[in-house]
Amino acid sequence: MTVHNVIIIGSGPAGYTAAIYLGRAGLHPALVTGALTPGGQLVNTTEVENFPGFPDGILGPDLMDAMRAQAERFGTEFIHEDVTSIEVVDGGDGGSADGTATGGIKRVTLESDDVLDARAVIVATGSSYRKLGVPGEEEYSGRGVSYCATCDGFFFKDKPIVVVGGGDSAFEEALYLTRFGSSVTLIHRRDSFRASAIMVERARANDKLTLLTDTIVTAIHGGNAGTGDAVAAGSVATSAGSPSANAVPSATSSLPASLTLNPIGGITLNTGKPADITLGGVTLPAAGSVTSIDIRNTVTGETGTLDTAAVFVAIGHSPATAFTGDVVRKDDDGYILVDGASTRTSTPGIFAAGDCVDRTYRQAISAAGMGCRAALDAQAYLTN
Ligand SMILES: Cc1cc2nc3c(=O)[nH]c(=O)nc-3n(C[C@H](O)[C@H](O)[C@H](O)COP(=O)(O)OP(=O)(O)OC[C@H]3O[C@@H](n4cnc5c(N)ncnc54)[C@H](O)[C@@H]3O)c2cc1C
Repeated sequence: MTVHNVIIIGSGPAGYTAAIYLGRAGLHPALVTGALTPGGQLVNTTEVENFPGFPDGILGPDLMDAMRAQAERFGTEFIHEDVTSIEVVDGGDGGSADGTATGGIKRVTLESDDVLDARAVIVATGSSYRKLGVPGEEEYSGRGVSYCATCDGFFFKDKPIVVVGGGDSAFEEALYLTRFGSSVTLIHRRDSFRASAIMVERARANDKLTLLTDTIVTAIHGGNAGTGDAVAAGSVATSAGSPSANAVPSATSSLPASLTLNPIGGITLNTGKPADITLGGVTLPAAGSVTSIDIRNTVTGETGTLDTAAVFVAIGHSPATAFTGDVVRKDDDGYILVDGASTRTSTPGIFAAGDCVDRTYRQAISAAGMGCRAALDAQAYLTN
């Protein structure tokens, strides 16, 4: 059986960057992309404005296509499957091309039951955010529903914003979002927070931030031209601020006769992120974007509706590392542990990079940077 030099698992920014470096080093990496979302998390978003080198921004899928093409150019072999397990099958001298490293051969098993052997493996399988699981969440994802304040906060300047969660991340996101939103409401299902006392104090001291406890979100609403949603037809606000599902519900009838909802939807899709459109003196919230949420008090059962332009869900992330079993050490939440600033895991010859390691930064550029480090670590392992 062929023994690859390196198998990279995962096709996000970390995996593709590792492939570019290893390909250029002449190590002919094989990259297992994952069956469902080749390209990683960014294929699920629209405009990426903070990846260096693109002053006008770039669509997430276009960025990932370009990374893939660059990896391909340097000889990466792509395998479009999921990995189901990794094991070390040879504890002897299979660790390096010249037989000097002692990490053993790593065997990667794919969903199809095919197996691949390699001297080194880079795990770059990212993470997925936990979802609320309420109606409207999927529909308005990327159109007002977001899981990353750093990525999307900028798009909601002077708009009311809701954050859901009660941990440090939720508070950090809420405080950060006060720089953009006209108001930020943090909604938490209990009356006490997991977040540190100092974060809660900071939040309480911030005039723009309201804490709504014992409350859950039960549905997310917005204007969606495609579904015939009642809100879509009537979601016209009279000012640029606080678009309200209930404001001027019949205003569409006073719009110019030539204006239909389809072209409005087209404008929204082209700009990517929600942006209001002003026509004939009235401002339409971007078609297909969030306008309000339904909430329920968990103690009294009381229900209500809150107007908002954005819902930032901050209830945690799950690293996609279950398939690694016990072959590498992980923390209690499943993030792979690495040695200091390196990408070396507890098993010689297995490296890890990107969001499956990094619970703090979780950005495309930080994942790409770590992918570079993993490639250099793997190269050193294979050639020293
Ligand atoms: C909606 C959204 C918008 C975002 N916007 C921005 C932004 O504007 N700017 C920014 O910097 N960051 C943004 N991010 C964050 C950024 O996408 C991530 O930080 C980055 O993609 C992490 O890269 P990664 O390579 O670690 O993992 P990922 O991008 O998560 O890629 C992981 C890859 O591993 C694969 N995989 C998983 N399990 C397996 C398996 N068992 N076998 C094989 N393959 C597997 C997946 O299919 C995927 O291809 C956004 C994230 C989301 C969700």
